[in-house]
Amino acid sequence: MKQYKPKIVWLQAITCNGNTHSLLSSNPSRFELLLNSFDFFYHPSITTETTIDNVLELKEIDFLLLEGAVTSNEDFYKISDNNIVKLLKKVSKKAKYIISVGSCASYGGIHAKFEQNSDIKGLKDILNLEELKKLKQPIINLTGCPVHPEWILQTLFTLKEYETISLDEYSRPKNIYFGLAHHGCTRNEYFEWKVEAKSFGHKEGCLFYEEGCRGPMTHSNCNRILWNDVNTKTRAGMPCIGCTEFDFPRTNMLQTKKNIGIPSEVPLGINKRAYLTLTGVAKTFKIDRLHKKLIEE
Ligand code: SF4
Repeated sequence: MKQYKPKIVWLQAITCNGNTHSLLSSNPSRFELLLNSFDFFYHPSITTETTIDNVLELKEIDFLLLEGAVTSNEDFYKISDNNIVKLLKKVSKKAKYIISVGSCASYGGIHAKFEQNSDIKGLKDILNLEELKKLKQPIINLTGCPVHPEWILQTLFTLKEYETISLDEYSRPKNIYFGLAHHGCTRNEYFEWKVEAKSFGHKEGCLFYEEGCRGPMTHSNCNRILWNDVNTKTRAGMPCIGCTEFDFPRTNMLQTKKNIGIPSEVPLGINKRAYLTLTGVAKTFKIDRLHKKLIEE
């Protein structure tokens, strides 16, 4: 008997295509599994045989994924003669699950922050949830700029298998966003002993004290599952910029804000006074190994 493949429709609004690129950078065998397990019915850049009109003809969609921020300004964005909001309102009523892929679709992201048009929003801000009768689960936010491809796959496969996924207070899957980018970072030992990185791109030092690393206050599993199976920002010597959080993007992202030389934000859940005491104690030790190059040339 032929196995039913859940239908995926992926729409794009105001976007740089970053999440599409991310999806296309999935581990190849995982991506193949996705294509074999789901009916990828429509994506503006991936599918070739279907159009928006075919999407509008569908009675039911299992998964509606949106990439990009939305605006109700009719002159701003049109696709196949449809204003994106009108289109989303029509298509969302057919969907069993709706996933906002990326920070822009989740809450407007970089466009909402920097565009003159203040009407730019996330998907859930423009839909009337009462009208989404087929929806089996609140709209899911996969925040990130871009999202890790595995987050898309994991969410789709979990919903296909279990028909539900546990969400946090921001409607993000808990199993993806429960930990911090700091967890699993190869620089944790430098963080503990307060040894700073001298600049970007080096293997040594922690990027929290000078370079603005947001790993200790950013919910993501980047450093546990890695990107392209091998790397992360912090492994490459670039600070985490906190792109999965709702205050992203912030200004001066590559600097650590300080008051009298002390980071104004301390790691999540840690009392500031306790953190400063620990910092003071750690700095009194000088561990030679941590002040040397990891690989001597
Ligand atoms: S570089 Fe960032 S994520 Fe890594 S240990 Fe330092 S603060 Fe944590």
